[in-house]
Amino acid sequence: MKAVFLDRDGTIIKNVPYLNNPDEIEFLTGVIEGLKILVNNGFSLFVVTNQSGVSRGFIKIQKLEEIHTKIKNILRENGIDIKEIVYCPHHPDDNCNCRKPKTGMIDNILKKYKIDLRNSYLIGDKDEDIILAKNTGIKSISVSNEIKTSPDFKAKNFKEAVSWIIKDSSF
Ligand SMILES: [Mg+2]
Ligand SMILES: [Zn+2]
Repeated sequence: MKAVFLDRDGTIIKNVPYLNNPDEIEFLTGVIEGLKILVNNGFSLFVVTNQSGVSRGFIKIQKLEEIHTKIKNILRENGIDIKEIVYCPHHPDDNCNCRKPKTGMIDNILKKYKIDLRNSYLIGDKDEDIILAKNTGIKSISVSNEIKTSPDFKAKNFKEAVSWIIKDSSF
C-alpha cells in the first residue's frame, strides 16, 4: 500500500497547545476534503504526533485516546478511514526513539503494514516533520511557512499539499 503520514496539530487540526479537551478539536480548512481526495486515490492514512504533554502531566492518556477516537469518528463519518493514530508520549529529555524527528513511530507502522515508501508522503507543519520524512526516506510537504528545512514541496495549505501529492504520484 501507499501511505500518507500526517502530523496532527497544526496540520489536520488547529494547534491548541497541549489539547486536552475533545470539544476543542477543530479540523483545519480543506482537510476533510483533502483527505477524501487522498483516500479516493488509494492512499492509506496514518497520523503520527508528538504528545509530550502526557509526560509533562498536562494530558492523561485516557483523554488523548478520547481525542483520537473522536478525530477518527468524525473522519469516518466523512468516509475517511485513518488506519492508526500513533503518538509519542515522552518528554524531549527522555531521549526515546519515537519522538519526531526520530523514526520510531513510522518504524512500528512499517512492521505492521506493507507500505511502499517510494510512493508515500508526509504532510506536516514543523521542521521535525520534514526531518522525520527525510530520515524515513519519503517525500515531504509542509503546510507552514515557518519551516527552515527544505521539504519536497511548500504548500500554502492542506488542499494545495494534497494537489501536489496527486500530481507527483501520477508520474
Ligand atoms: Mg504540528
Ligand atoms: Zn517517544
